[in-house]
Amino acid sequence: MTINVSLGKVQINPEAAFVFPQSRCCNCGTTSGISTQTQDTKVTRYFMLAGTELTFSLPLPVCSGCSKSLVRRVPTLFHKFLVLAAFTAAVFLLLIVALSQISSAVPVLTDHLFISSLGISLVLVFLLYWLRRPTGQQTSYYQPVRIRKLDREFVSGAVKKIGFAFTNPLYLKDFSQANTQALQAGRVSATKSS
Ligand SMILES: [Zn+2]
Repeated sequence: MTINVSLGKVQINPEAAFVFPQSRCCNCGTTSGISTQTQDTKVTRYFMLAGTELTFSLPLPVCSGCSKSLVRRVPTLFHKFLVLAAFTAAVFLLLIVALSQISSAVPVLTDHLFISSLGISLVLVFLLYWLRRPTGQQTSYYQPVRIRKLDREFVSGAVKKIGFAFTNPLYLKDFSQANTQALQAGRVSATKSS
C-alpha cells in the first residue's frame, strides 16, 4: 500500500537562507546575455521502501546556450539501468525478427540471443551517454547546480541545512561570496561538482 503525501511548501530556516547571485551563467560562466530561469531540482529521500520527493525551484542565472541544461536531470545509476533494460528488450525483439528473416542463421547470435542483445545494448547505452557531453565552455550537459545535502527539522520539516554542488568553479566562488554568513554558520555548504 502506498500513500501519496503532498508536501506543499517547505520552509527554509532564516539562518539556512541562501541567494543565487545573478553574476554569470551558472553553467558556462559567461557574463553576457544571462537571464534568471527556474531549475527544478528534485531531492528524493528513501525510508525503507518508500520515498519522499521534494522539488526545489532554484532561480539561476543562465545564458541562452545553456538554458536547456537546467531541465536535464542528472541520470541516476537506477535510471541508466532502466534505459539499459529497455534497450536490451528492444534489441532482443529486433534480433528475433531479423534472424527469422535470414535463411542462414548466425549461430553465435541464435545460441546466445540474450547475451548478444545485452552486449549490443551496453555499447548503445554507453554511446548515448557519451554523446551527452557539454559543448564549448559549458561545464555540464545536465543541471549545473545540484543539491547534495539536506537536513530538515523532524516535526516542521523546515530546512535546517542545505548543501549545494556546482559544476562551474567561478559560479561556486560567486555563490560562496554571496552567502558568506550562512556558509560560515555551517547552515549552507557549497562544493565543486564533477
Ligand atoms: Zn551558459
